[in-house]
Amino acid sequence: MLGNMMPFQLTINALMQHGKRQFSDTEIVSITSDYPIHRCTLGDVFDRAAQLANFLKAEGINKGDRVGTLAWNDFRHMELYYGVSCSGAVCHTINPRLHPEQIEFIVNDAEDQLLFIDPLFVPAIQALRDTFKSVKRIVVLTSDASVIDGLGDDWAIYESVIDGQDTAYDWPELNENDASSLCYTSGTTGNPKGVLYSHRSLVLHTMAEVAPDALGVGRRDVILPVVPMFHVNSWGIPYLPAMTGCKLVFAGPKSSDGAVLEQLLREEAVTLAAGVPTIWKLLHDYLKQNNIKLTHLKKLLVGGSAMPPNLFRFFEEEQGATILHAWGMTEMSPLGTINHALPPALDNLTETEKFDARLRQGYPIFGVELKITDADDKELAWDGESSGSLQTRGLWIMDHYFKKPETRSASGWFDTGDIACMTADGSMKITDRKKDVIKSGGEWISSIDIENAMMSHPDVSMAAVIGAPHPKWDERPLLVLEENGNTHLTKEQVTEWLTDKIAKWWLPDDVKYVEKLPLTGTGKIHKLVLREQFKDFSFE
Ligand code: AMP
Repeated sequence: MLGNMMPFQLTINALMQHGKRQFSDTEIVSITSDYPIHRCTLGDVFDRAAQLANFLKAEGINKGDRVGTLAWNDFRHMELYYGVSCSGAVCHTINPRLHPEQIEFIVNDAEDQLLFIDPLFVPAIQALRDTFKSVKRIVVLTSDASVIDGLGDDWAIYESVIDGQDTAYDWPELNENDASSLCYTSGTTGNPKGVLYSHRSLVLHTMAEVAPDALGVGRRDVILPVVPMFHVNSWGIPYLPAMTGCKLVFAGPKSSDGAVLEQLLREEAVTLAAGVPTIWKLLHDYLKQNNIKLTHLKKLLVGGSAMPPNLFRFFEEEQGATILHAWGMTEMSPLGTINHALPPALDNLTETEKFDARLRQGYPIFGVELKITDADDKELAWDGESSGSLQTRGLWIMDHYFKKPETRSASGWFDTGDIACMTADGSMKITDRKKDVIKSGGEWISSIDIENAMMSHPDVSMAAVIGAPHPKWDERPLLVLEENGNTHLTKEQVTEWLTDKIAKWWLPDDVKYVEKLPLTGTGKIHKLVLREQFKDFSFE
C-alpha cells in the first residue's frame, strides 16, 4: 500500500519559489571583475534569473541542454545556477584553472550550447573558440561592451542580453530526477569525467546541510563561500539562502587575497566561511602578520584536504571560530561526513584525545552510508584501528559518470578511492588517497598524518610526503617542504620533531625543499606532479 501524501517534486524551482516568497530581501554581496563591491537582494537574483531564462529560450536552449560557465563566485554566477537549472537546462560549471586542453575536452564532451564566462577569461576562451564544436554563443559576464570589441557575432555581453527581458518566466514543472547541474572531476589518469546532479539530489543535500550538527545554518547567518562555484556547486552554499534566508558574500576574483577575505569577514559580519585549508593558511598568514583578531566568525567549514592541526588550533583558540572539518567528493555533491560536535559519550576523553577526535573528518550525515573494506572486498570493523577502502552510497551519491553507464558499480557502492578508518562511535578518519599511500615493506604509511605533524612545526608552512622507490622496502616516505625564508630543517631535526608524533617506521628517510609545492586547480597539493618532479630521486 502506498502512502497518501502529495507527490510534490524536490526541485530547485520549489526552492527558488520559497526563497522568492520568504527571503526576497536577503542580501547578496559580491566582488566582481566590474564592481569593487556589488550589493543586491535574493529577489533581484531571482528576477534576473528569470530574465536569463527568457534569453535562454530565445537562444533555443531546450530541456536537458548544457550551458557552460567559467566564472568566479558572484551574483551573476548565482543567477546562472538558478536560471539555467530551473528552466530545465543543465548548469555546467567549468574550472577555469584547468589546462586549456582539458577545458576543450570538457566543453566538447558536455556538448555545451552556450558559455557564460568572466571577462578575465576572454583571451583564453578566444584562443580555444575554434575547438568548441557545439558552442553557439559566448556571453561575457559584465556590462562593459568593450571586452568583446572585434570578437564577432557569436560573442555577447551578459547585461545586454538580459536587459529588457521580462522578469517573469513560466518556469516548467520539472521532475525531481531531472538533471540540474554538471561538474567534471579531474582524475589522475585519463580525461576528466562528468558528474550529473539531479534537482532531487541537490535539494536533499541542501536540506541536510542546514541541520545543526551539519553546517547549522539559519536566517541570521552570513556565509562567505571561498570554495569556488565551479567546484562541486561551491559545496551547495548558493542554495542555502533560498532555503534559510542567510546572506551570502562572494569574493569573486579576489578569493585568494588574505586582505580582501579579512575585509569581507569584518565588514559584512560573516558568521560562517567555507574553503580548503590552503585558503585558511593564506588567511592565517595575513591575520598573524597584521595581528588581527576576527570578531564575527563563528564557524569555519574546511574540506577538500585534511585540516592541519596548527591551523585548526589557530582558528579555534586564537580566532574563536569552531572548525567544521568535513569530507566529501565531487561525486558526492559533495558532503559525506562532518565533524561539528563530539557525541556526549566522548565527554570523558582528555583534552588531547578530544582534539584528535575533532581533527578527524567526522560523522556521516543522514543520507550518506559508509563502509570500509579490505582487498577482498570484505567489510572491516569500525574499531579505530582497521583501515581500508572507503565506499559510500546514499541520497546524493553519483550512480555513474556522465555518458558512461559502464562506470556504475556492480555492488551498488561507490568506491571513493580514499583509505579510511572508522571509530566505534562512527567517526571517519582519512588516512590517504589510495594512489598516494606509501607502501613500505607491505605496510601502509599515511602521508596525511606525517604532513599534519610537520605542519605544526614553527618553521614549516607547507609540507607534502610522497613515496619514493627504495631498494629494500619498495617505497619509503620522502618529505618535501616549501621554501618560506626560514632556515632549512635537516633530516635529523625532522626526525627529532616527529619522533613522539608518529610511528618510528613512518619517519621520512629524507627531506627536500622546493620553491613552491604544486597545487591542483582546487588548491590541493598535486601529488602526481610532485612525484613526477622527484621521479629520479633515490635514497642514498
Ligand atoms: P574533489 O572531488 O576534487 O572534491 O576531491 C575529493 C577528494 O578530496 C576526496 O576523495 C579526498 O581524497 C579529498 N578530501 C576531501 N575532503 C577531505 C578532508 N577533509 N580530508 C582529507 N581529504 C579530503
